[in-house]
Amino acid sequence: MPYLDLNLNLTKEQEMTRKTVHEFARDVLRPASLELDKLDPEDVIAKDSIFWKVFKQGYEIGLHKILIPEIYGGGGFSPLEVHMLFEEISWGSIDFMIAFGVACFPAFLSSMVPNDYLVNTFILPFCEDKEAKIIGCWAITEPDHGSDTLAPFTAQFSLPECAGSCRARLEGDEWVINGTKAAWVSCGTVATHAAVYLTIEPEMGMAGGGICIVPLDLPGVSRGKPLNKLGQRALNQGEIYFDDVRVPKENMLVEQDSYEALLDITLSTANACMGAFFTGVARACYEEALEYCKQRIQGGKPLIEHQLVRYKLFHMFKLVEACRYFSRAVMEFNFNTNPPYTQYSIASKVFCTQAAFEVANEAVQLCGGYGLSKESTVEKLFRDARAGLIEDGSNDFLALVAGEALVGGE
Ligand SMILES: Cc1cc2nc3c(=O)[nH]c(=O)nc-3n(C[C@H](O)[C@H](O)[C@H](O)COP(=O)(O)OP(=O)(O)OC[C@H]3O[C@@H](n4cnc5c(N)ncnc54)[C@H](O)[C@@H]3O)c2cc1C
Repeated sequence: MPYLDLNLNLTKEQEMTRKTVHEFARDVLRPASLELDKLDPEDVIAKDSIFWKVFKQGYEIGLHKILIPEIYGGGGFSPLEVHMLFEEISWGSIDFMIAFGVACFPAFLSSMVPNDYLVNTFILPFCEDKEAKIIGCWAITEPDHGSDTLAPFTAQFSLPECAGSCRARLEGDEWVINGTKAAWVSCGTVATHAAVYLTIEPEMGMAGGGICIVPLDLPGVSRGKPLNKLGQRALNQGEIYFDDVRVPKENMLVEQDSYEALLDITLSTANACMGAFFTGVARACYEEALEYCKQRIQGGKPLIEHQLVRYKLFHMFKLVEACRYFSRAVMEFNFNTNPPYTQYSIASKVFCTQAAFEVANEAVQLCGGYGLSKESTVEKLFRDARAGLIEDGSNDFLALVAGEALVGGE
């Protein structure tokens, strides 16, 4: 491995699994995401796009089910193993990592509050899928509600004026859904199923919600165009519209009484994962810069022979290592703690995404003009890292949510 793992207790099997996933990330995910980055968003998901070949290869080796418990046919990995694999996949491509992550999200959530109907019709087939036939997404953001949706257990979450606009009402044995989820829904353009975060009781504000698994081939579902954006361009995103969509009652995982608690677990899990993901991004930037500085000659010797360059590389190395061990500790703690201490997951997400952006910025600087050119890998990594400061909650707002927990002593 290009880095030394400070955990002396890793087994040979864990190291082998990491090596296999690292090689897939290096040989398949990285080159494909660099190629897809240059395309228009429509072309990324076109029938003949390399996206589909690579996504299917990922399903074949089980990258879509890393988070799912073994009893359902999932990866059954420990939190430490999940972290190691997520770091490797993200090192290769944060775009594909997010795509595999959200693909898994509805099945992962369903496995947390399982009922026989969803286990048999959805979770088991998802885990058996080797051809990317079942793709999930996480539909929470709305055109008029971004940060509002990610503030469980804060004062603003219960304000009626903050209630979401995508609504569900119960009619007999079916939920009827109306409204729109934002263009930011990752895999929103290609998903077959969505975990939709809905408002059931608007008087309770955002807290009056529910989470429903919605098959996206139902009558009344339609999609927007793939979003055109700055970074993570191999990750497709797009709006989903619901017009009187009828879903069986069993598909509603939680209603108002436990919505806030499951949202809190969602946020804690997603932010803990983001810590692992952006450790991988930070490491990719550091390694690219290190290699370049060994090759590029200035002042009659390789850049790495200059003292200031070494100083900068050391600072980048230090940040990558800090990301890995903080985000690992948070993932191991919060994946084993119910209810989770979400402020730790938020701290991990905010720290690692900021560190990744800082390391990416230094990597561009060390690569000089080449770092700005479309031929360099760091140019893409810099844009990818920038998106991380907003993705899964804007860092500023997440800090306010975590801050409220600190004040409340929760
Ligand atoms: C790459 C990427 C992938 C994403 N994937 C998904 C996905 O899979 N599913 C999904 O549903 N969404 C997804 N999102 C959406 C993402 O979660 C939202 O963009 C994020 O929550 C911020 O919401 P917003 O963009 O509406 O910004 P806003 O909420 O409008 O915030 C704008 C600015 O105002 C600040 N702000 C907001 N409220 C307050 C406040 N009360 N006090 C002080 N400052 C405040 C914020 O910090 C931010 O700087 C994704 C976003 C990105 C960039």
